[in-house]
Amino acid sequence: MPDTTLMTIPGQVDPVPAPRDITPREDGRVDLLGLPRPRIRALLEEAGLDAKQAKLRAKQLFHWLYHRGVTDFDAMSDIAKTMRPWLAERFVIGRPDIVEAQHSSDGTRKWLLRTSDGHEFEMVFIPDADRGTLCVSSQIGCTLNCTFCHTGTMRLVRNLTPGEIVGQVMLARDSLGEWPKGKMDFAAEESEVEYRADGRLLTNIVMMGMGEPLYNFDNVRDALQLVMDGEGLALSKRRITLSTSGVVPMMARCGEEIGVNLAVSLHAVTKEVRDEIVPINRKYGIEELLQACADYPSANNARRITFEYVMLKDKNDTDADARELVRLLRQYDLPAKVNLIPFNPWPGSAHECSTPERIRSFSAIVFDAGISAPVRTPRGRDIDAACGQLKTSAEKKSRAQRDREAAETAETAETAAA
Ligand code: SAH
Ligand code: SF4
Repeated sequence: MPDTTLMTIPGQVDPVPAPRDITPREDGRVDLLGLPRPRIRALLEEAGLDAKQAKLRAKQLFHWLYHRGVTDFDAMSDIAKTMRPWLAERFVIGRPDIVEAQHSSDGTRKWLLRTSDGHEFEMVFIPDADRGTLCVSSQIGCTLNCTFCHTGTMRLVRNLTPGEIVGQVMLARDSLGEWPKGKMDFAAEESEVEYRADGRLLTNIVMMGMGEPLYNFDNVRDALQLVMDGEGLALSKRRITLSTSGVVPMMARCGEEIGVNLAVSLHAVTKEVRDEIVPINRKYGIEELLQACADYPSANNARRITFEYVMLKDKNDTDADARELVRLLRQYDLPAKVNLIPFNPWPGSAHECSTPERIRSFSAIVFDAGISAPVRTPRGRDIDAACGQLKTSAEKKSRAQRDREAAETAETAETAAA
């Protein structure tokens, strides 16, 4: 057995840069994007409003910000005309910058986004006949190094803030023109103000973009709370799925504090193979992971846990693997469905995708055991938007290469100055 005692899982030991909830702006104004109601209220009080005014204005701002997607204080019709310039002097409502927007031949869209401190990350929108799914990033890069994942070859640059996470969903609604237009209505029941799927493009969210969401738990939770808030983006938790590579200690809290659907990147059924391709397995093994799934609050037959399984040629794709997968899911009595994902290649990847016959055979064994195991059609491969292909170009350079380039730029500047 490999000795794992000396191995470090980077996510556990590396200091992860934790940006403040408010990023300072050069013009001194505060960006409200990503802030919850009480924080907005406190800022208004700090700026001089009395408690009652601050409470009312915070409620109004929250509505315009998250329910209506308004970024201009002048458009906030129920806020007094004289108040609006006062707000605009002190606050802004931002969005992540769009560096590039790409369209796949199959309708998939990918956006390259940039944070205010200049880091790039990606989000993907996947339209289907009956739904539209936004794939949201939680980190820039990833501390984990799953061997089949392009993001895994990036170092972790930093966690995304709540504003940068909810900002992706808001930007998608901007681009798709999908903000509710009705007047301000605070219905008592959440369902009455819920963002309806009818006729809309963006109906579902998956936390399956860049990064491991459970290593950025607080910010992901805070962002999703704004997404699920009936007076905010009002998207039902049933339409949101969070995918984890298996950060076992955070899974219970994910169920309790966020309550969204869970997807688990299983990808292998033996310790040997999972240790190799999903290295976090050396820290939290398959048994521990499946037990945490069995204990996941709110998982039941109506809300099954999705097990993602990337099909890698000669690695994890035999009939015996499929039978072992069925055995494990039964042993832990899991309300499960399996997503078989054909491996999406990227430049320099060391894996190959299993053959279509192999994937069909694997799928049939799981289906025959009464567990749904559809094969995912890869989407957006032509624009590198498919599962595991996300990696921002700025980060494709190694650190050494960036240092070299910085030195060269400095040299050029010196020469020019001389
Ligand atoms: N870090 C989280 C979420 C992001 S990855 C996680 O690992 O679950 C989203 C999904 O894409 C995961 O199931 C991941 O294993 C899968 N994936 C990564 N690289 C892939 C590739 N090259 N081809 C197919 N699926 C891939
Ligand atoms: Fe990170 Fe998920 Fe990619 Fe693994 S599959 S490297 S956890 S983003």
